[in-house]
Amino acid sequence: MSNFLLEIVTPERKVYADHANMIIVKGVAGELGILPNHIPLVTPLKVAPITIKKDGKNEQIAVNGGFMEVRKDKVVILAESAELPGDIDVERAKAAKERAEKRLGSKQDEVDFRRAELALQRALTRIDVAGKK
Ligand code: ATP
Repeated sequence: MSNFLLEIVTPERKVYADHANMIIVKGVAGELGILPNHIPLVTPLKVAPITIKKDGKNEQIAVNGGFMEVRKDKVVILAESAELPGDIDVERAKAAKERAEKRLGSKQDEVDFRRAELALQRALTRIDVAGKK
């Protein structure tokens, strides 16, 4: 089956560098499936799990915002943070979820509200990905 090179990079480290047959990501305009020979494209990504299809298996990675660049020869995801299922501390994500929900439930300014929403989304993405390993 044809494939392409996928790299997922954060400011801290390279999280993933391997071949994939297809990936499914959540762009700001909706879900996108990327197959080999896709036209070049750059899109911001939502905080959401991405799915990697490789050799008949599906793998998920928690990708916490950033950009995807589809190039001729490879796909690069530059994420603010990203974790493989086995690297996720579920208790930490649950605690972050509770903190965020508490903040969302109390009255506060818009900036803090948006921050709490994003923190909640990161926590839910991590819990989701860790649950599927
Ligand atoms: P917390 O409030 O628990 O720090 P956060 O969403 O604010 O969560 P980030 O700023 O997105 O955390 O990430 C900071 C660093 O910690 C990144 O390297 C990220 O990969 C890592 N990280 C955050 N939460 C977890 C988790 N539950 N399990 C493993 N690594 C995590």
